[in-house]
Amino acid sequence: MTDSIFAKIIKKQIPADIVYEDDLCLAFRDMNPQAPVHVLLVPKKPLDMLTSAQEEDQALLGHLLLAAGTIARQLKIDGAFRLVINNGEESGQSVFHVHLHILAGRPFRWPPG
Ligand code: 5GP
Repeated sequence: MTDSIFAKIIKKQIPADIVYEDDLCLAFRDMNPQAPVHVLLVPKKPLDMLTSAQEEDQALLGHLLLAAGTIARQLKIDGAFRLVINNGEESGQSVFHVHLHILAGRPFRWPPG
């Protein structure tokens, strides 16, 4: 399987504006931001989409949510932010390596578009 663009960012083969990293995940700014703050949080494990996760990934998925909170505090957006996971092409997923969008800095509508 060829590496996705995010796998290349994780391996530091291509540059990204990294805001957080630990043993299990990496977060970097989206190159086409949809809000004043738009960070992508990716597991280092190459899962293509959320629905590919298995029971063994439970701790990793929990870790990502905790990391999202840590990043939000670090970026001082913990008062208000939105997390989005697109799962599958029809939902808007374009990169097939699981990622959480962390968005903040403007009002968000509900229901989402
Ligand atoms: P998706 O549509 O799969 O949920 O989100 C993919 C996101 O990755 C998009 O918001 C897109 O702008 C971002 N993206 C795609 N390629 C790159 C890249 O090479 N670097 C960065 N920083 N973001 C990327």
